[in-house]
Amino acid sequence: MGKERTETPPIDTWDLSPLYASHEAWEESFENVKKKFWDEISELKGQVASQPENVKKLFHLTFGLEQELMNLYTYAHLRHDEDVAHETHKTAYDRISTLLHQFSEATAWIEPELLSLPEEKLKKLAESVDLSDYKMVLDKTARLKPHTLTAREEELLALGGKALQVSDRAFGALNNADLKFPNVKDGEGKEHELSHGLYHVYLRSRDRVLRENAFKTLHKTFLSFENTLCELLSGSVQKHIFYAQAKHYDSSLQAALYPHQIDTAVYENLISATHAHIDKLHRFIALRKKLMNLPDIHAYDLYAPAAEEIEMKFTYDEAVDVTLEAVKPLGPSYCNVLKRGLKQERWIDRYENNRKRSGAYSSGCYESHPYILLNYQGFLNDVMTLAHEAGHSMHTYFSNQSQPYHDSRYSIFVAEVASTFNEELVFRHLLANAKDKNERIFLLLQKLDGIRATFFRQVMFAEFEKQIHEMAEKHIPLTPTTLRKAYSELNAHYFGPELTLDAELEGEFMRVPHFYYDFYVYQYSTGISAAFALVDKVLKEGPRQYLEFLSAGASDYPVEVLKKAGVDMCSEEPVTALLQRFDALMDQLENEL
Ligand SMILES: [Zn+2]
Repeated sequence: MGKERTETPPIDTWDLSPLYASHEAWEESFENVKKKFWDEISELKGQVASQPENVKKLFHLTFGLEQELMNLYTYAHLRHDEDVAHETHKTAYDRISTLLHQFSEATAWIEPELLSLPEEKLKKLAESVDLSDYKMVLDKTARLKPHTLTAREEELLALGGKALQVSDRAFGALNNADLKFPNVKDGEGKEHELSHGLYHVYLRSRDRVLRENAFKTLHKTFLSFENTLCELLSGSVQKHIFYAQAKHYDSSLQAALYPHQIDTAVYENLISATHAHIDKLHRFIALRKKLMNLPDIHAYDLYAPAAEEIEMKFTYDEAVDVTLEAVKPLGPSYCNVLKRGLKQERWIDRYENNRKRSGAYSSGCYESHPYILLNYQGFLNDVMTLAHEAGHSMHTYFSNQSQPYHDSRYSIFVAEVASTFNEELVFRHLLANAKDKNERIFLLLQKLDGIRATFFRQVMFAEFEKQIHEMAEKHIPLTPTTLRKAYSELNAHYFGPELTLDAELEGEFMRVPHFYYDFYVYQYSTGISAAFALVDKVLKEGPRQYLEFLSAGASDYPVEVLKKAGVDMCSEEPVTALLQRFDALMDQLENEL
C-alpha cells in the first residue's frame, strides 16, 4: 500500500496558496469570473473591422479574461493531479475545463473577423502605434491572410473538420483500446502479458528471448492489420494535403511550418546534415554490439542495458544540489531564482502518493510561479527529470517576468530547448565528478542512447513523414507495399550494415501516433541540436544571450529568437555540432573501455 495524499508532509508538496488560499477562495473567484467581460466581448463582434480602438479594447478584455481563467485552471488541474479520484477537485477541474471551452467558443469569431479585413488594413493595424503592445499578436494573424479563404469557403472547411478527423480518431481507438496482444514467453518459457506499457519494460530487459518475443509479437499484431493501418495513415496524410492545397500552400510541409514562420529549409537541413554524418550512428550500433558481446544486433537490442548497471542513487536533496551546482554557468540571476523555487517557495510536488498523476511535468500560469510535478524515486533518471522540468520552469519564469501576458507563451519549436539544455549541464557535471570508470561508462552510454532515441530516431521519423506526404502529393498510393518499402529503406540507411533488419521492423511505422501529428517530431531533433549549441556558447561566452532567449517568450518568431541567441536553425551548423559531440562522446567511451 502506498501513501495517501493526506499523509504527505507539506514540505514534500507544492505550495498552491500563492494562487488561491483555499478551495473556497477558488470557488469565489470562479463565480466572479463568470460575471466578467463575456458580454462586452461579444458586443464587439462585428465592430472590429471598422475601428482600431475596438481592437485594442477587444484584446484587453479577452487576454484579461483568459489570464484569470488560466489562474483558475492551473489551480484546479494541479489539485486534481494530486489525487485524481478526489471528488471536489475532480469536479472543480471539470467545471473550469468546461468554462475554458465556452471561452474559446465565445472568442472563436475574433481571428476570422480580423482576417476578413483587407490585407492592407490588417498590416496597418499591426504597425499602428496605438496597438504597438499587440504588434506580435496582430503580426501572427496578418501572416495568415494570404492563406485565408472567403467567409463561405472557410465555413465549408470548418464544416468538414469533424469528418476529416476520422482517420486520426480511428487510429487512436484501435491503438489505445481495441488492439490486444498475445502473451509472450521469456527465456525460461514463462508467459507474460503484453501491452504498450509492458513492451517498453520488456525491451529494457536483460532477457534477450523476452525482448525478441515482445518485439516480434507486438509488430506482428500491427502487421496483421496492415491494410487498415495504412489506410488510416493515408487518410491522415490526405487531410494535411487537403488543407494545404485548399489554403494555397506549396506543400503540406510548408503549411505545417508556416504559422510559426519556420522555413522548410530548417526541416530539410536537419535531414541533410544528419545524412552527412550517418556513419556516426553506424559507429554507435557497432559499438553497442561489441559492448553487449552479441554475434548480431537487432532493433530489440537497442534499449537493453549495454554495460554493467551501476546503482547511482540520489536523495531528493542531493538531486536538488546536483542541479543547482550544474546550472552555475547560467549565473546568479538564474541560480538564485531556481534555488528559491526549489528550497523555499515549494515549486515542487516531490513524491508519489496513491492516485497521484504519474510521470512529470512543469506547469504554472502567468500570475503564479512555476510548479513541477515529480514522482521522485532517486535514480539517475529522476535527477535528469528534475533538471529537465526545472529547465522548462525557468524558461516560463523568465518569459513571464519579461513579457506581457499575450507574448509570454513560447512556441513548441523552442519548448524543449531549455529542458534539454539543463539535462546536458547535469550530465557534464556528473561525468566530471564520477567516482570511477564504471560510473563514467554508465553515464556515457546513457547519454549516447539518449541522443540516439531523441535525435536520430526522430530525424528518421521526420524524414519518413516528409517522404509519405511527398508520395501522396505525387499521387503515389500509400499502400502496405509502398510504405513498408520506404520505411525499411530508411531503417537500412540510418542504422547501417551492423543492424540485422527483422521483417517485423517494417511494421513499426504503423504503431507510431506521431505520424498523425502533422510534422511535429522534427522539433525534438531541432530542440536538442539548439540546446547543445547553446550549452557550448554559454560555457565559452557566458550566459547573457541565453538568458535573453529564456526571457523572449513569444515576443518574436522562434527561429528569430534562437538566432538572436546565436544559433541559426536555418543552417546545418547546430545539427553538425551535435553530431560531432555524439562522436566525441563515443571516443570518450572507447577510451574508458
Ligand atoms: Zn520536456
